[in-house]
Amino acid sequence: MGITMKIVRIETGEVNIPLITPFKTALRRVDSVNDILVRIVTDDGQSGYGEAPPTAVITGDTKGSIRCAIEEFIAPSLIGMDIENLDGIMQKLSGCIMKNTSAKAAVDMAVYDLFAKSCQKPLYRVLGGTRSQIETDLTISVNEIPEMISDSQKAVSEGFRILKIKVGKEPPKDIERIRAIREAVGADVKLRIDANQGWTPKEAVRIITTLEDMGIHMDLVEQPVSAHDFEGMKFVTARVNTPILADESVFSCEDAIRLIRERGADLINIKLMKTGGIYNALKICAVAQEYGVECMVGCMLESKIAVSAAAHLAAAKGIITRSDLDGPSLCREDPYTGGPLFEGSKITMNESWGLGITHVPGFAPGI
Ligand code: MG
Repeated sequence: MGITMKIVRIETGEVNIPLITPFKTALRRVDSVNDILVRIVTDDGQSGYGEAPPTAVITGDTKGSIRCAIEEFIAPSLIGMDIENLDGIMQKLSGCIMKNTSAKAAVDMAVYDLFAKSCQKPLYRVLGGTRSQIETDLTISVNEIPEMISDSQKAVSEGFRILKIKVGKEPPKDIERIRAIREAVGADVKLRIDANQGWTPKEAVRIITTLEDMGIHMDLVEQPVSAHDFEGMKFVTARVNTPILADESVFSCEDAIRLIRERGADLINIKLMKTGGIYNALKICAVAQEYGVECMVGCMLESKIAVSAAAHLAAAKGIITRSDLDGPSLCREDPYTGGPLFEGSKITMNESWGLGITHVPGFAPGI
């Protein structure tokens, strides 16, 4: 554009959207998406948007901590910086406060939104991608078997070809859960199993090999054991044929390097809320690509702003072979204007600039 785009203001807001059905995993139950929103305003009158969910049981971030990190630490460090100085902004963002990855992710995606706008392109094209459409799975919450079967059948009837089955709450019953769902949806639907750290290493090996021996194909098994049980992840990965995906075990690029080198898993689940945004997610993609380790891009309970940022990343990088970006599909309503089109399993990228989100309730339009 040739003119400067200096950050003049970083504002926070809040969104509360009820879920269609309660989201239940081995770790928690949630009934609505209640996230912190961010708007960065530049001196040429442009807005960039971000969002962060308070996923206390995974990231340690709460609504209060996200707001405080942004308002008291991040905003004072970034105000006055030029969007064109993307690398400089990211160094400041990383150093002005430790941890707080969700707050950083919300600000990082708003900065990338503005950076892509300055390039006059959609974000995924600025990141070097050309995939205009990606496919997401849909999460099936952990419940009693009949409810999980009907939720799975409903998802398939709505066009989802990949289901992410939450288990890990009652290990003895999980084999039956997965077997029953496979039988109900047939062999053509891909099943991704997420135990959310709910199994011991020995339980995980027993459950996965039992299912393998029954001829039940699983696309992957995600985070079978505790996030901190690195030896346990290695133990399971070495003993089963089904690919093991690390989620809660990998936050940073450093975590990813260790995991890859020590074979703690076969696949890596990248989430912006763990990495602290797109800048660090790109580092994991680069390392993973170097080693040929395929990645999934996932989301927490996020509405369309944060999931759009993740979708732009997924559309940009070939090493990201799987998307778990069902946040908007779980929400009862979409309060925003613009952005990628989320239609069931299909996410069609916007060709408008940046993330494509043009209106966010709660923030006045323009400067
Ligand atoms: Mg997971």
